[in-house]
Amino acid sequence: MAQILTTNGSNVEATLPANTPNHAPSKVPDWAMDPVTLLPTEPPAGQPTGPIAWQTALKRAIRSGRELCQALNLPAELASPRAEADFPLFAPWEYVARMQEGNPRDPLLLQVLAGEQEMAPQPDALRDPVGDGPAERLPGLLHKYDRRVLMITTGACAIHCRYCFRRHYPYDTAPRGREGWGQSLLSIADDPSLDEVILSGGDPLTLADSSLAWLATQIGAMTHIRRLRIHTRLPVVIPQRICAELLDWVRQSPLTIYFVLHFNHAAEIDQPVRTALRQLRQAGATLLNQAVMLRGVNDTCEAQTALCLALVNEHVLPYYVHQLDPVQGAMHFAVPDASAVAIMAEMQTKLPGYAVPKLVREIAGQPSKTWITHSA
Ligand code: SF4
Repeated sequence: MAQILTTNGSNVEATLPANTPNHAPSKVPDWAMDPVTLLPTEPPAGQPTGPIAWQTALKRAIRSGRELCQALNLPAELASPRAEADFPLFAPWEYVARMQEGNPRDPLLLQVLAGEQEMAPQPDALRDPVGDGPAERLPGLLHKYDRRVLMITTGACAIHCRYCFRRHYPYDTAPRGREGWGQSLLSIADDPSLDEVILSGGDPLTLADSSLAWLATQIGAMTHIRRLRIHTRLPVVIPQRICAELLDWVRQSPLTIYFVLHFNHAAEIDQPVRTALRQLRQAGATLLNQAVMLRGVNDTCEAQTALCLALVNEHVLPYYVHQLDPVQGAMHFAVPDASAVAIMAEMQTKLPGYAVPKLVREIAGQPSKTWITHSA
């Protein structure tokens, strides 16, 4: 087993190849010294890096703001090593290649670059803004809503989103691997009130396909479970993650499989992403998207409309736009409810109804997401 960086900065076992290096930030990226893969030390920004394996893409991801700024011809002062120490920066080149060089307001850059504003006092912010802790049925198994449970399968992600509501989640307490998941699977098998299982994290697609296929088989053997939902940002970030092995287990599963993707901006959708989405669809999966309304990234009618059109053009239904969860370190992304509601109202005049997502907020302890239709 290798070690991989979790969104809270600690290292856990993951099912990446044994030679996958530790993702802890360092001055010299460890992939640059990897004697096995002999990767280039600095792929050119702005150019797709070609169809390398997704594990390799993870290994050579950018892990420092200074390196990211250098790649995009931006001043190094934009980066905050202090903020990175709190929540490490992690951005694969495949994602960075879609950013605009020299633009400090690039909507993709703002999602990953750790800035000093994260360190400002944020009195209304919480470490567990959505009540994951109280919703734990077992370590790593959350039961918030009727009919469905959510498994925290891993703490690893393919990107570190600065607004992540689980950036402080205690991933070290969540069981991992086939043995670790056993208690959760027994609990699901014993509960006929459930008919859907959600695989989340972290990002479940950082797991090896052998592990995911095993999980899908175990869950598929429970006759009361009809649907498997996979919450992932990997097809957005490293589209070559949609590989033949993944498509095989998706195609073969007796479950109805939903992928809930996480696109926040139309500029995230390029040709490799379109190909990955088409392959998922052709394997029989239904594709939904949940975005987060983020100040400076997508808080205009134009940006949200362009995203929704780009999604429906690829057969992805815009499902939710979340208001920011008030998590410590991310409050500079918050958009007032009045502005978000006005954006949604304007979008309704510009899009077919099926392309307009619901604006929601997750409130800890509530039996469903709360639909925001007007501001207080
Ligand atoms: S938002 Fe999702 S992909 Fe991004 S850091 Fe959080 S769990 Fe990972």
